[in-house]
Amino acid sequence: MSNNNGHRYRGPVRAVILDWAGTTMDFGCMAPAVVFVKVFGQAGVPITIDEARAPMGAHKKEHIRQITEIESVRARWQEAHGRPPADADVDRMFAQFVPLQEACLSEYSDLIPGTLDVIGALKGRDIRIGSTTGYLPGMMAINLKDAERQGYVPDSTVCAGDVPAGRPFPFMCLQNVINLQVSPVTACVKVDDTLPGIDEGLNAGMWTVGLAVSGNEVGLPLADWEALDDGDRRARRQHAYARMEGAGAHYVIDTIADLLPCVDDIEARLARGDRP
Ligand SMILES: [Mg+2]
Repeated sequence: MSNNNGHRYRGPVRAVILDWAGTTMDFGCMAPAVVFVKVFGQAGVPITIDEARAPMGAHKKEHIRQITEIESVRARWQEAHGRPPADADVDRMFAQFVPLQEACLSEYSDLIPGTLDVIGALKGRDIRIGSTTGYLPGMMAINLKDAERQGYVPDSTVCAGDVPAGRPFPFMCLQNVINLQVSPVTACVKVDDTLPGIDEGLNAGMWTVGLAVSGNEVGLPLADWEALDDGDRRARRQHAYARMEGAGAHYVIDTIADLLPCVDDIEARLARGDRP
């Protein structure tokens, strides 16, 4: 375990803490989005994919609750059921969500191109790999098995339910710090494809890297992203970069494949005495 005074820390990056869907696997962060759409459809209140994606990054039950608070969804719920959505509706939809999500996770668990190379390079530099997720432990058991089969094994994984609160609170990041026994937090980098995931890293006092293209902000599978015409691709990339930069991410890149130059730059800034 390193023991450094955070105020004077000028050493290397000690840990990179990675999100899951849209960061290391499931290009486009598709798996949760399709199941939220399905569950609200079953409740008689169809939602758009954008409404389904809006709270992405939160604990999945909190995510469902936040969808029910979107004004357009509340209005359609009122129209369909003659009353606003209640806590019992959230509980019921969450109970339906869990098995549906578990059943389809493996359809979306391909690693995002570049993941293995980048993680191999980080581990070669003695950088520990932590991870955080809004998925539940049963879902993570499936993702961890699928990741391992493809060669990705993080040193630590923390689910939102393992700590007092999920994103945007910093607790999952800080639990990784404890699990990995790394110090100081200014030597840690949080990488995420969602705005609450950037907040999580900032609240933990870490450097943050936003992934604009591979995750929830563009929200397209790799093949669909590649099939866009140049103008459409440019517009969607710009929109995603602006959102990530607006959230306060220290760096914004397309996908995890571009992460290493950010780590190099962070190390140069730490060496100069910079802090996140
Ligand atoms: Mg994600």
